Amino acid sequence: QGTIRFEDVRFGYDPDRQILKGISFEVPAGRSIAIVGPSGAGKSTISRLLFRFYDVGSGRITIDGQDISRVTQKSVRSVIGIVPQDTVLFNDTIAYNIRYGRIDASEAEVQRAADLAQIGDFIKSLPHGFQSMVGERGLKLSGGEKQRVAVARTILKAPPILVLDEATSALDTHTEKDIQSALDLVSKNRTTLTIAHRLSTVISADEIIVLKAGVIVERGSHADLLGQN
Ligand code: ADP
Ligand code: ADP
Repeated sequence: QGTIRFEDVRFGYDPDRQILKGISFEVPAGRSIAIVGPSGAGKSTISRLLFRFYDVGSGRITIDGQDISRVTQKSVRSVIGIVPQDTVLFNDTIAYNIRYGRIDASEAEVQRAADLAQIGDFIKSLPHGFQSMVGERGLKLSGGEKQRVAVARTILKAPPILVLDEATSALDTHTEKDIQSALDLVSKNRTTLTIAHRLSTVISADEIIVLKAGVIVERGSHADLLGQN
């Protein structure tokens, strides 16, 4: 479960400016793909279309053969977990933020996910620096800490499809390694789409796509691409 296909996808936020100019690729269930390329190439736009923030201009996106524009946004999102570049958190406890997306999870499950993402000591606190009227501590989380909350949420949700959008970019190298290993744990046997600036961060992907100005200019394994450069 979790095969993604993009079939000649074209899209622009404005009708007179195409951002994606005919993108096709497939990620078989359980495999991983990385999309690399310069800033502005359209990488995040691919993840936004997959998550149905927008509908494609032409072409189609399918998950397990189902055209995602023909099912509800909610059902598309239920099979996808995103660790975005900028995680926006609710002004509620970190535990609440982690549980969001799997509200049936037990406290022990939330704690375990938080521990794996190394945010386990903070889960009773609030993320934006304000203390609550019932006395919950207010911490002002850094970008990297917010990302760890997103990682914990994804660990807990354990969806068939994972989208990692520069998932470890806001972290220092030491934390990045730890978080990467937590992410490897969740991405094992799941379809994974990783968005990155640099080839060096996506060595383990089964296939790498190089996107420039909305066009796929190269594709292959990490070794293939290095051989050509
Ligand atoms: P990348 O992830 O490769 O850096 P994006 O997919 O975020 O690129 O953006 C691709 C292009 O689309 C950029 O030129 C960006 O300015 C433009 N863009 C992104 N979001 C919007 C938006 N909401 N409205 C209009 N243009 C946008
Ligand atoms: P629902 O519709 O079931 O209430 P959402 O569709 O809002 O849930 O969100 C489902 C998942 O998508 C959550 O796990 C959340 O992390 C993620 N998500 C929601 N909004 C965004 C966003 N703007 N950027 C990235 N991820 C988001």
